[in-house]
Amino acid sequence: MLPRTRQEAIDQGMPKYNTQKSCKNGHLSPRRTLSGKCTMCEADKQRRNLARRTPEQKEMSRARARARDKQKRLEIRAARQLANRRIEQ
Ligand SMILES: [Zn+2]
Repeated sequence: MLPRTRQEAIDQGMPKYNTQKSCKNGHLSPRRTLSGKCTMCEADKQRRNLARRTPEQKEMSRARARARDKQKRLEIRAARQLANRRIEQ
């Protein structure tokens, strides 16, 4: 159960609170304690921003994701090799 007011959320150290009242866009969603923003409005905004990206921006994030995946695979392989070496010794 989330706190009903932002102040309660701050006092309890909760990341979100729920006023049970609709935001200016009619969402009955929890709000963020730090910003006071409706989480559904934030999700909508993020979705719009993603849809507005140029092909170049889309390719950039795909490339970044590929680089992350590759890095992760290398880390896993290194950890496995390290574990194998410990067993052999
Ligand atoms: Zn909203």
